[in-house]
Amino acid sequence: MTSPLRCTRATTTVLRIAEEIVGAVLDPEMPQVTLADLGIVRGVTSTGSGVEVTITPTYSGCPAMGTIRSDIVAALQAAGFGEVTILTALTPAWTTDWISEAGRAKLRAAGYSTPGAAPRRPDGPVPLTLVPLPRSITCPVCGSTDTRLDSEFGATPCKALYRCLGCREPFDHVKEI
Ligand SMILES: [Zn+2]
Repeated sequence: MTSPLRCTRATTTVLRIAEEIVGAVLDPEMPQVTLADLGIVRGVTSTGSGVEVTITPTYSGCPAMGTIRSDIVAALQAAGFGEVTILTALTPAWTTDWISEAGRAKLRAAGYSTPGAAPRRPDGPVPLTLVPLPRSITCPVCGSTDTRLDSEFGATPCKALYRCLGCREPFDHVKEI
């Protein structure tokens, strides 16, 4: 397969297409949202023989990052991009504040409680805290604010498990980091 980057005049357009492809890759843990929704794609550049994609990991040690890398490579190669290199940018560190409004709307529609404002912190990768932060949580099912924390760790370490005391439904809260 010929590399779409052969034609240099079209490189900008091709890179924009590559960025769209990368942005449309779904998050393996919350497939309702894309990498663009999560705000983890920093940029795509041409290397001549292929493309270099820079992403910011959601948090240190996130088990989904390996899957995200291989999904990006697979999506770009399926579209004819030959050599794909994935780079990571750790500074500034990703925060849940980078999740787009569209992404938050998709998460709410899928029954998740979305993160509030991220706690302030210095630059650099941040380990996931083991101490629960006080949060004001709204039930994504009925809208009640009468909720109880059942477990600080839900289906994945980035979610906490809550129960609504209004409608009794359990739900995942995507933690603010
Ligand atoms: Zn409820």
